[in-house]
Amino acid sequence: MKENVVVIGAGIAGIQASLDLADMGFSVHLIEKTPSIGGHMAQLDKTFPTNDCSMCILSPKMIMCAEHENITLHTYSEVDSIAGDFPRFKVGIREKARYIDLNRCTGCGDCVAKCPSKVPSEFEEGLSIRKAIYLPFPQAVPRKMTIDAENCRKIKDNKCGVCLKVCQAGAVDYDQKGRIVELDAAVIVIATGFDLMDATALPQFGYGICKDVVSSMQFERILSASGPTGGHLVRPSDDKEPVNLAFVQCVGSRDAKNHLYCSSVCCMYATKESILATEHAPDVKITIFYMDMRAVGKGFQEFVQRAKKSHGVRYVRSRPAKVQQANGDNGVLVSYETPGMTGEPVSEEYDMLILCPALLPSSSTREIAKMLDMELDDDGFFRTPDIRYPTDSSKKGILICGFSGAPMDIPDSVSQASGVAARTAELLSGGDR
Ligand code: SF4
Ligand code: SF4
Repeated sequence: MKENVVVIGAGIAGIQASLDLADMGFSVHLIEKTPSIGGHMAQLDKTFPTNDCSMCILSPKMIMCAEHENITLHTYSEVDSIAGDFPRFKVGIREKARYIDLNRCTGCGDCVAKCPSKVPSEFEEGLSIRKAIYLPFPQAVPRKMTIDAENCRKIKDNKCGVCLKVCQAGAVDYDQKGRIVELDAAVIVIATGFDLMDATALPQFGYGICKDVVSSMQFERILSASGPTGGHLVRPSDDKEPVNLAFVQCVGSRDAKNHLYCSSVCCMYATKESILATEHAPDVKITIFYMDMRAVGKGFQEFVQRAKKSHGVRYVRSRPAKVQQANGDNGVLVSYETPGMTGEPVSEEYDMLILCPALLPSSSTREIAKMLDMELDDDGFFRTPDIRYPTDSSKKGILICGFSGAPMDIPDSVSQASGVAARTAELLSGGDR
């Protein structure tokens, strides 16, 4: 009989680990708290340093996950309990009520078109709306609707009920209840990823104060052809194409008052987003405010050189001290000191400012660590104490991959995920420890 492996988190790391484990013959249960697998990579327009289409890489893997005979998806689900030790863990999975019968929903979208309840879309980082009954994004897997109970007029106030009337498949079920699924697992893989720091915590950068200050993830959606602006580079305040824009890196990272560590990917994604912005608007002038350029990876330094030489990106080694509203409702005024020993105070106007906030261990990290009595490091990532086994956590049989262990980019997350699959096989074949 195949042994069970539970993978927690279905971003690119969890997906890759699941596929490799399933190909090795393990029976994989992949748990994802949101309605679809895919994670943050699904939100990205392109990946650095090759500018390959992110979804073109991710989407086939998502479909392979859904269709693999050895993978069971538990979407819209969370870990409820974990007990036991390697290789006999007992895992309780809380499958939340979607109010939709997954076996009946065809994903036709008739219900979405008629739903009157509108809320900001999490996938579009609040830049557009979704309905209370929704598919998080067009390529979502599974392609099944979810009703967000907090915003559904029927479930909250016993009004509306439109989706039940329009659904020809009889898939809507307002009385559906969540359920707990219990299973045994030989190994548990944690791939819970990251959350973007809320930049409103640092008001000096103007996020949430100036309309034209956006986060890097919001900018990623603005650049995306499937995003809220259809891929047109426009600023939020008046939908005009910016003439000049700037990035601020290390917002909350490498900052003793916030997060001391380097988030690892911001230098490169700011460079990528700059290049993409010039491809959308060839005349736009771009400045990147940075502390140190951390272009450590294959082709990374060349990517930065390309941004400078071929796309005219200006890199300024300085951290802005203040960002204010520039002129009425539009643009921003950025104040910083010029680089060098005798830094001079300068203020420059930009049509739009993009912040690169610290990337934090995801909100579920602490909860899972507590449940499993596992150690976190000083920055809140899972501790991987033995350098000989870089995916081993502080507890035997619980393996870590991707951003839940340390900040890392997509290729490193994928490599670690494959490493986790190999380590699972090693441990279960009586490995070396
Ligand atoms: S719930 Fe019904 S109407 Fe909505 S997408 Fe599914 S099948 Fe279509
Ligand atoms: S019942 Fe809820 S989800 Fe359905 S259409 Fe009305 S508000 Fe939307």
